[in-house]
Amino acid sequence: MDDPAREHEHHDLRLRDVVAALESLYPLDSAADWDRVGLVTGDLDQPVRRILLALDPTLAVIDEAREWGADVLVTHHPLLLRGVHSVATTSAKGSSVTALVRAGVALWVGHTNADVAEPGVSTVLANALGLTDQRPLSGENAGRVGDLAAPVSLAEFADAVAAALPATAGGIRVSGDPEGTVRTVAVMGGTGDDRFDDVRASGADVYVTADLRHHPVLEAREEARGGRPYLIDAGHWATESLWLESCRERLLATLGELAAATRVEARVSTQRTEPWTFVVGANAAQPDRAVPPTGGVS
Ligand SMILES: [Zn+2]
Repeated sequence: MDDPAREHEHHDLRLRDVVAALESLYPLDSAADWDRVGLVTGDLDQPVRRILLALDPTLAVIDEAREWGADVLVTHHPLLLRGVHSVATTSAKGSSVTALVRAGVALWVGHTNADVAEPGVSTVLANALGLTDQRPLSGENAGRVGDLAAPVSLAEFADAVAAALPATAGGIRVSGDPEGTVRTVAVMGGTGDDRFDDVRASGADVYVTADLRHHPVLEAREEARGGRPYLIDAGHWATESLWLESCRERLLATLGELAAATRVEARVSTQRTEPWTFVVGANAAQPDRAVPPTGGVS
């Protein structure tokens, strides 16, 4: 908008082209009934030159979009999931909507429709962990199950998960015998503690997901009598954020010639939108696994 050359350029990519491409990859009707996906702000006729992708539409992400001059922000998590009656700047949500509209940034959300797409959020996670012979974890194509090239110990596998995912303040948490052997792996990006029946039915040796709460986890571990499936909580942001690069590549490929003709740019946000900042006392009850006092986690 602040670049007058854009206004007069022929064959501009329009928001309607970008939305059509996104919704061909992640159809809105594949989203869960409770979900709120698709276009949140923007004018379908507005030109698009820059597309920013992020897991969450936080105020910091919106600032990044404005500063970079993004025309479209694509996020995995919805900004508005519950009813709102005000978008005034007196609330964070209202400030977000106001900032997006003022800056002319269109927001498009791909949430549960991105989870069940192929490749979706969990497929990208499974690929990052090197899983082969992948199959759906559940009937609606949410989650993946696959095999490691060779059996490894749970401790080795946990280290491999940590190496494959972007670093986070919280690190990853593991439940199970570090010396236990794992080969078949179930994964579910984001919140996955409602899938333990599917995980048991899949025959997985270990389940990698996030947001694991005390009671569901303890009950699942009791059902397993301390054995398999072991559990790994690798963090919501870390397990889902890898999807953004997949979405970026597929979007540019779908826009194809149109994107090349208009030199559209797309990049993944540098913001880590996981809410945790730091941990203390990790492994204090197990000194042999404790984080060294210096260096530590980033
Ligand atoms: Zn999520």
